[in-house]
Amino acid sequence: MGEGPRCSVCGARKPLAKIGGKYYCYECGSKLVREHILSLLKELEKKGLVRQA
Ligand SMILES: [Zn+2]
Repeated sequence: MGEGPRCSVCGARKPLAKIGGKYYCYECGSKLVREHILSLLKELEKKGLVRQA
């Protein structure tokens, strides 16, 4: 049998998510998404689109 997709970060089998054409397991995927959202929020803050109360 051929090898299935693997997490592109840690190499774990049975990745759960495909983000940007790469596979990620739950751990790496959630970490990536969190970082992505944080950087996105910072960008928006810089542009003044998000205002802090
Ligand atoms: Zn992983």
